[in-house]
Parts: sequence; structure tokens; C-alpha cells
Amino acid sequence: MAATSRDYYELLGVDRTASESDLKRAFRRKARELHPDVSEAPDAQERFREVVEAYEVLSKSETRELYDRFGHAGLQGGGFRPTQFDFGSLSDLFSAFFGDDLFGVSPRTRRSRGADVAAEVTIELADAASGVHRDVPFDVVVGCGRCDGTGAEPGSRIVECDGCGGTGRIQQVGRSVFGEFVRAQPCPRCNGAGRTVEQPCEVCEGSGRVVERRTLAVEIPPGIHDGQRIRLSGEGHVGSPGAPAGDVYVRVRVKPDPRFVREGDDIYSTLDLTIAEAALGATRMVETLSGETELTFQPGTQPGEVRVLSNRGMPVLQGYGRGDHRVLVNVVVPRHLSDEQRALLEEFERSTGAENYRPDEGFFDKLKSAFR
Ligand SMILES: [Zn+2]
Ligand SMILES: [Zn+2]
Repeated sequence: MAATSRDYYELLGVDRTASESDLKRAFRRKARELHPDVSEAPDAQERFREVVEAYEVLSKSETRELYDRFGHAGLQGGGFRPTQFDFGSLSDLFSAFFGDDLFGVSPRTRRSRGADVAAEVTIELADAASGVHRDVPFDVVVGCGRCDGTGAEPGSRIVECDGCGGTGRIQQVGRSVFGEFVRAQPCPRCNGAGRTVEQPCEVCEGSGRVVERRTLAVEIPPGIHDGQRIRLSGEGHVGSPGAPAGDVYVRVRVKPDPRFVREGDDIYSTLDLTIAEAALGATRMVETLSGETELTFQPGTQPGEVRVLSNRGMPVLQGYGRGDHRVLVNVVVPRHLSDEQRALLEEFERSTGAENYRPDEGFFDKLKSAFR
């Protein structure tokens, strides 16, 4: 039974007079687009099978003739069954089909870049505001100095691997829709190197690589946000011979500061005034990221009032200017009153009237203006 009832020519995007080479070209294009290795579409596998089936039928003259004359029913009557196959990798498919390599690079000469290294550093919010240098330690794989990365103890010989005859690869036969293909895999004995050493290097035990602890001075720019990463290009694990090393990514953690809340580039803090300070007016020092600053509060200052200290927030990362620092006023109410204090407050309360409490602006309006 055919897996698809769609028109084969349509599936390949060719017309009914397409030549053999037209079909081949169309199939190649579709396979590159739809193979599950490269397509993320959820139905890629299904569509890929359809295209393979279409090509299988149209590329052979007997089945193409049957299909041209009688359609899918003709094939069914003729006992056609699409080949069951392993997807394999896209490059396996292409080497079986076209005898070439999809990427134009044979696996033996492909060099691999070294892996990336993740490191982390924790700084204070004030350091994030000013920018800071930090020495960041991390472990990195480097070439072994004793054997120069060869893995052979100095003076000993390097010989051809007899597992793979020096090619670094062993070949396995797989099955694809186009018949058998040869899949080359790294030789497990020499790990793809093609060579083995008579006597492994004492330091790296033959691997040619050692782990080293390194420390790099990292410049953390002002305005960095918690969780952002700084890339140190080429400082990561060593690559295969001739290939570049990986990168180091330093994740910067910014410790929360109990005095401040950071929202983007803005800073928020609260300031407590006593009832008397709020009612009588007061001058208070408030802390900011760039030192203390004096704020004067008028008599009748209400809880929820917000003072905006422009450009006293966090610097904008890799930009210009700074955010603002907003100070939210809180009025604290005294507790645990003595008899005398209670009497005084009661007397004070009797002396006040509606006039003393007429609002100028609602509390919630002020809150809204604080967080806009
Ligand atoms: Zn070594
Ligand atoms: Zn080998």
C-alpha cells in the first residue's frame, strides 16, 4: 500500500514531462528542505516519506509508466510497495544517493572547534552600578605541555591504529531507500585519531589534553543585569588540531541589595518618617547608589509621597545616562505608648479638626505616580 495518495509530480514540484535529471534535482531540493535533520516542522518526517516515495516511483521507468497510465491504483495493482527505510542522517542519505557529501566536507577533515566553558561571578549591586573588574577562575581543557598534545610519552613512538588502519574511521553498512550505504563512524580504539601511542604520556595519560585552572580578569560593564553573560572569545576548551578554541561565558550574578529594589535601570527605596516629622517637616539623608543625598520634606508630608532623584539610578548598559532613583515615603506610627504619651496624643487628637486632614492628593494617586 502506498503511504500517500497525493500526486507524485506535485509532491516533487515537477511537471509530468520532467526528465530523470529534473527529478533528481527536485528530489534533492525537497530532501534538503524536509529531512527531519534539518526541518523543525512537526510533519517533516511524514512529508519526507511522501517525497521519497514519489521519487522512488518516478525514478524507475516501470513504476513511472504504471503511475502515469493508471495512477495510484495502477501501482497497487502492480504490487508496488514503498521501501521501508531508516532515516539515517541527511548526510548518509546524500552520500548513498548522490555519492557526495551534503556539506562538501569529508568527515575526516572536519575540524571541531573547542567547547565553550561556563563560569560565574557574583557582584554587589553597587559594583553593577559602577562597573568592576573581577578575577574569574574556571577550569579549561588545554593541550598537554609534556607531549605537545600528541599523547605520546616523549621519546616513544606514535603508530598507526590497527583498529581502523590509520583512517580514524570504521565503516558500517546501513540501509536507506536507495539501497545500502556506508556510514563511517569514528574508530572507538583511537577515538578517530587514526594513531595510537606506544607509551602514553604520563601527564595526560595519552589524551594529549589536560585540565587547567585559569583565572582571567573580566571587566564587568556598568549597568549589567543579574544573569547576563559576558563572552571571552577563544578562552574556552582547546579544539581539535587547527581548529579554534571555544569561548568562555561568564554569567554575572548581581546580589540583591537590602536597601534598594532594582527595576530595569530604576532604583526604588523607602524612607520612614515619624508622624511628627511628616507633620512638622524634616530634612533627612537618604542613601543612593552614588552616596548619601539630603532630602527636605515639607510640613504635612503624606505617606506614599515619592521623590524622584533623576539620573541617580543604574547606568544604562552600553548606553547613555542612568535610570532614576525613586524614594517612597512611609509614615511610621508609634507603638507601645506610655501613659503620658497616650494622654498627649489624646489631647492632640481633641485639638484637631477636619481642616487638619483635608487631603490634597489621594494616597493611591501618589502610589500610582511612584510606579508609573
Ligand atoms: Zn601529554
Ligand atoms: Zn583507529
